[in-house]
Amino acid sequence: MTSAFEPLIRRLATLLPGELLPSELPQLLTPRQHPLLLDQRRATMIVNRVRLFAFLFAMLTPLWAVIDIMIFDFSLWLGLALFRLLASSAFVCLLLFCRPSGNLFEAYRAITLLFAIPTLFYVASHTLLGSHQLTEFSAAAATGYTFLPFVLMAGLSIFPLSLQENLALASLLLLAQGLAGYLGWSTLNWPSFAGGFWLLILIAGVTALASMSQLAFMITLLRQAIHDPLTGMLSRGSGEEILGLHWSVAQRNDSYLSLAFIDLDHFKAINDNYGHEAGDRTLCAFAALLQNNLRDADSLLRWGGEEFLLIMPNTDAAQADQALQRLMQRGLGSRPDGLPLTASIGLAERRHDQVPSYQELLDLADRRMYLAKNSGRNQIYGHDTLASRQA
Ligand code: GH3
Ligand code: MG
Ligand code: MG
Repeated sequence: MTSAFEPLIRRLATLLPGELLPSELPQLLTPRQHPLLLDQRRATMIVNRVRLFAFLFAMLTPLWAVIDIMIFDFSLWLGLALFRLLASSAFVCLLLFCRPSGNLFEAYRAITLLFAIPTLFYVASHTLLGSHQLTEFSAAAATGYTFLPFVLMAGLSIFPLSLQENLALASLLLLAQGLAGYLGWSTLNWPSFAGGFWLLILIAGVTALASMSQLAFMITLLRQAIHDPLTGMLSRGSGEEILGLHWSVAQRNDSYLSLAFIDLDHFKAINDNYGHEAGDRTLCAFAALLQNNLRDADSLLRWGGEEFLLIMPNTDAAQADQALQRLMQRGLGSRPDGLPLTASIGLAERRHDQVPSYQELLDLADRRMYLAKNSGRNQIYGHDTLASRQA
């Protein structure tokens, strides 16, 4: 039974965004497993686009009153112009108060406000238009107002959103459309309303696909930009930013944050004796071994040639020391001559070492790594190593 479906499933799988790794596909559905750096970049991009649209809407919404005055009678025009002015001021406030901070919740708030303002305008103008007797010509122009939900729904596609986020925003728009129908139900033309609602649902589907493909594109570009091409680990360029993000989360929650600075021992000798390619292979094997032994929350960065940083959120100094000791006991792989590969590790922790910034945490781990080197290599040097040696 399953085998009959296998070719079909394989064919369907080729339709998925090919640039994504299989492990990244769930990121299209929900933002829960997004890396911190993706959250940060996406939040900035969303707020920048919200600001661009807020600016355009703030300009265009009052300008349309010039067209309204040619179509509607004065009292209706005045009501609509007032709504337009209110909407435009709300867009200006959005523009003034929403600044990109890299915080995803602030981005959610900005995007919700961006859609809430025209939605409220739509419900209000729809109700006002419904309460006026319109001539044939102005009735035709008034149908233009009913296009707004479709424009808004299509506008969602400019944001890189997961399916879950897209559905949340789209259902708000569908709810508003339902509300506008409910408010004017006595004069509602049901077949055309139902047709319009169905069209809105179809546009929501297409929009969800567009938002998800933007997100897929962003995930891929970000992965390529932040990973070291040799080992596939996170690279130094993004490393400091990632450390900074973990630092602010740890500081906000006053939680533990351990950092290990790992430098492979006598690595130059591998290059000198077996060639650069053998050195590269040893580096890759080491990085892969470490990566496979990490918890999901940990991040491994390639800091320099044969230097790696291991960021361990919510891990106190003792737990980090224990995890690294276990790793070293199991072995870090082997050198081309078959001897065990070893490393000198400096370990620092935010609360235990009472450091004020992530730069100082990094400095401390770096200095301790040198202490580990000078004390004979192949060992971990942390706060307590120092204390026990002084005792
Ligand atoms: P120590 O135990 O004191 O750390 O000795 P070491 O030889 O590991 O340290 P040193 O800093 O003297 O040398 C680091 C070497 O790492 C030098 C460089 O040739 C090598 N290296 C750096 N990046 C790469 C790389 O991408 N590929 C290869 N094959 N070697 C690299
Ligand atoms: Mg080194
Ligand atoms: Mg070294």
